[in-house]
Amino acid sequence: MSEKRNFSLERIERTYMKVTFFGGTKNSEDLKVDRRKLLLHSCCGPCSTGVIERLVSEYDVTVFFYNPNIYPEEEYLRRLSAQKKFIESFNKTRKAGETEKGVLTFHQVVLLVGEYNQDEFFEAVKGLESEKEGGQRCVECYGLRLERTAQVAQLGGFDIFATTLTVSPYKDYGTITEIGLFLGERYGIEYLATDFKKQNGYQRSIELSKEYGLYRQDYCGCIYSKEEREKTRK
Ligand code: SF4
Repeated sequence: MSEKRNFSLERIERTYMKVTFFGGTKNSEDLKVDRRKLLLHSCCGPCSTGVIERLVSEYDVTVFFYNPNIYPEEEYLRRLSAQKKFIESFNKTRKAGETEKGVLTFHQVVLLVGEYNQDEFFEAVKGLESEKEGGQRCVECYGLRLERTAQVAQLGGFDIFATTLTVSPYKDYGTITEIGLFLGERYGIEYLATDFKKQNGYQRSIELSKEYGLYRQDYCGCIYSKEEREKTRK
């Protein structure tokens, strides 16, 4: 990892986690299917749409919504609500199927919601507040969210973890991958290094967001990106 991209693990490492569980009534254990369990960090409902659609054919997907960077709280709740809406609707569209061995392959997507404590974000990006979007502040922000995901994946017995962050054309795939692989090694969990914007992934997320009637935000998430956005608008 280059010096520039080196994010401060010590600062963001925490053992305390508060996670809320929402829905997802059937899982592969109930149905005796042996598939890999994937924990997918999601930054928002719209970005998660195409990624979930792509991953469910191969993995039992649990979505982890952990985004203490989002400002203000009303915006956080709006994005969380869009996430729940998508998962609920998506699960309804899925039907139980069978393989040639006669085994059910149906798995409902589960949603886990991490703690919303904006102080965690402000602490992680201390001193980097005036960085431009895409700079070191964002590296710390990715690191914070991905590290918590890796911790939850380890504690929850997941096989692999991933993030929807790579679906955005505004976020650097190389940086996110570097952090994911680093944390995967650190926590002993495989990181799925996939550029979800490829193969029309970003476009598909826009289509699905429209189809499911999801709220789509117009700024990345934190107070600084909101201010930048407002300045550009003026
Ligand atoms: S611009 Fe986005 S990625 Fe960067 S710090 Fe703010 S919320 Fe995080």
